[in-house]
Parts: sequence; C-alpha cells; structure tokens
Amino acid sequence: MNNIIFFGPPGAGKGTQAKIISNLLNLSHLSTGEILRKKILEKDPLSIKLKEIMSSGKLVSDNILNTIVSSTLTREEKNGFILDGYPRTLAQAEFLDNFLNKSLIKIDFIFNIKITFEILKDRILKRSSEERRDDDKIEVIETRYSEYLNTTEKVSNYYKIKQPGIFYEIDGSFEINQITKEIKKFLKKS
Ligand code: AMP
Repeated sequence: MNNIIFFGPPGAGKGTQAKIISNLLNLSHLSTGEILRKKILEKDPLSIKLKEIMSSGKLVSDNILNTIVSSTLTREEKNGFILDGYPRTLAQAEFLDNFLNKSLIKIDFIFNIKITFEILKDRILKRSSEERRDDDKIEVIETRYSEYLNTTEKVSNYYKIKQPGIFYEIDGSFEINQITKEIKKFLKKS
C-alpha cells in the first residue's frame, strides 16, 4: 500500500500530480482545498466564513482541517491515500502524526514540488481563466505564497529532517508529463 504526501507552493502542480498518481495507483485523493471548495457550496454560516478566508488567501483554522482529514482518513485509509494540501501548519503535522501513530498507518513517500514565484504566478493566472477560482487573483496569490513561505515551508522542512528516507524533492518547473515521470521513478525505486 502507498500513502503519500505532496508539498509545494500554490501552483506547483501538486493537485495535478496527486490526481494522476492517485488514478495510477488507485489511491484516495484527499485534496483539502477541493473539500473546502465543496463545503462553500453548502451556503451555511460556516461556508460563508470559509469563503471569506479562502478568497483572501489565508489559511483556514487547524481545527476545521484536522476534523476534515481525520474523518476522511478513517473512511478511506484502507486503500492508501494521497494528502494534497495538508498538513500546512506545524500544528496540523503534529495532529496528523498522532492520528497516524494511533491508527498504525505510515507514510511511504513525501514529494516536495519546488517552483519559483515567477513561474507559479504565471501558472495560477492561467488557471484563473480556466477554473475561475476566487483565490487565483494576483493580490491573493501573493498572500497565498507568503502563507506558504511563512508557515507551510516549515512543515515540509520538518518532514525533510524527520523522515529523510522517504522525502523526495521534485523540480516543478517542467511539463506535467516530465514531473510525473520523475515521481514514478522514485515510486519504483523503493
Ligand atoms: P488549495 O486548493 O490546496 O490551494 O487550497 C485552497 C485554500 O483552501 C487555501 O488557500 C486555504 O485557504 C484553504 N486550505 C486548504 N488546505 C488547507 C490546510 N491544510 N490548512 C488551512 N487552510 C487550507
């Protein structure tokens, strides 16, 4: 079984790769951004708050994310899973580690997709015209990128130090197929 975490700034292509690899290996794809975007459509008081936070580019609270992830993983962990967009804070990483320890689940691969701000800005602006996401505007991209640098990069560094044997750096500047090829190379190796 394969349990995988994808890290990377917004626009690095982690959602795209997570989708491809989850189809390839028949894993559950747990994209917290997607789950939250679906929740927004429910139009209850929580969804109004979520929409406000997400369209500003800020992070949603750890409590909400931890609840979503633990309940989804409890349902889906049997098949193996890909975490795409979680954990994004050290508190989420701590929660996840405890949850996995208690459930006797281990992570097999961590892929950290790296990309420069210039490339990601271009990609996200292109995506904004295709997918019409509220948070794909230039001002919001800057906030999302600084959330990544100030908070989420610390989480990937934490795993890089804690689990170097399963941590793989991926160059996200290449074409989609090329990046998939690189990821598959690491998946095959171990
Ligand atoms: P994404 O589709 O992964 O780029 O996520 C879109 C937005 O959802 C983010 O900018 C955050 O506002 C929110 N979000 C997704 N995952 C998380 C998380 N693990 N922690 C906090 N906020 C999150």
